[in-house]
Amino acid sequence: MSEAVKSRIGFIGLGNMGTPMSGRLVEAGFSVTGTDLAEENRDRLARAGGTAVETAAQVAAASDVLILMLPNSAIVESVLLDDGVAAALPASAVIVDMSSSEPLRTRALAERLAAQGLAQLVDAPVSGGVGGAEKGTLTIMAGGETETIESLSPVLSVLGRVRHTGAVGSGHALKALNNLLSATHLLATSEAMVAGQEFGLDPQTMLEVFNSSSGRSGSTENKWPNFVLTGGYNSGFGLGLMLKDMRIATQLAADINQPSVLGSYAVELWSKAAAELEPTADHTEIARWAGRNG
Ligand code: NAD
Repeated sequence: MSEAVKSRIGFIGLGNMGTPMSGRLVEAGFSVTGTDLAEENRDRLARAGGTAVETAAQVAAASDVLILMLPNSAIVESVLLDDGVAAALPASAVIVDMSSSEPLRTRALAERLAAQGLAQLVDAPVSGGVGGAEKGTLTIMAGGETETIESLSPVLSVLGRVRHTGAVGSGHALKALNNLLSATHLLATSEAMVAGQEFGLDPQTMLEVFNSSSGRSGSTENKWPNFVLTGGYNSGFGLGLMLKDMRIATQLAADINQPSVLGSYAVELWSKAAAELEPTADHTEIARWAGRNG
């Protein structure tokens, strides 16, 4: 990748994840032009040293690598196709969808862009949360052509560790499956924590034992100690976004005739929680919900 390509990065979606990710790219010396629907998010990019613009089309005009960190596939498609962003990008540009999108839609979108001779699409969703985005330690699951993914290394290595997962769409498939596991663990952990405390066990002791035993997971090592026991419920990852990922994974499993029975039940329980909690609830609120419903 040439210096020119390396230095002009567009960033659309400056929310909980997009803000620290774009901030790291600015700090690493890249020229970053970004936008978000929310003015306060655009202002944060400007304060961090990037260039904030009002429309996605303006971002396209200043991008050789365009990163998207948006809520879902429908919004990714609408920004790229309806807002004319894909058509406004140089044909040599690469679009990197780091959102947690739907793998089959991603594949179809890549085919559509290629058929029109537009920029190439790579999917590169992430795991590691807001903390990982701030520290540059995200796990990046990249789907697409090997050469293109390698050419993105100077950019993506600022954000975390890249793992090439296969053809375009494969990153999005793996990300959804990861979150189905993560959400199922979190609910199972929460039920065990509630039952144990009701029995009289100390929650810290429970976590210490789980974390040196076979019951450990990201939920026992990170989510319960850092966001539940603190009473903060502030991981920065919304419950609605987690549920979206779980549905992507169970739909994928159904589509390929490998229905996920436990996963589908987890989706049912998380949907019930979503209906009963505030729309803005953090996903770690599922722990409190499990307590109420125990
Ligand atoms: P968020 O809701 O905080 O941010 C999304 C941003 O997109 C918002 O600021 C919103 O204003 C903006 N936006 C929506 N539509 C837009 C449009 N048409 N044009 C411009 N901006 C638009 O969400 P987030 O937590 O940052 O997550 C972003 C993506 O990353 C999601 O797909 C999510 O599933 C995934 N993800 C989140 C986390 C996390 O811990 N938060 C971790 C891994 C992956």
